[in-house]
Amino acid sequence: MAMARKKEEKSLEAVEGEDALKKCPDCGSDKVEYKNGEHYCGKCGLVLDW
Ligand SMILES: [Zn+2]
Repeated sequence: MAMARKKEEKSLEAVEGEDALKKCPDCGSDKVEYKNGEHYCGKCGLVLDW
């Protein structure tokens, strides 16, 4: 049953996650930069904790 539960969680995450994956939650910009092992917004500079 562990597998079924995990699948549920994952699909829930995917619904919300995948579209917003490369977007800043703060300003909505999709100009995400990657530097020093961190993603951050190229517009407002918010560090995205992915
Ligand atoms: Zn931003």
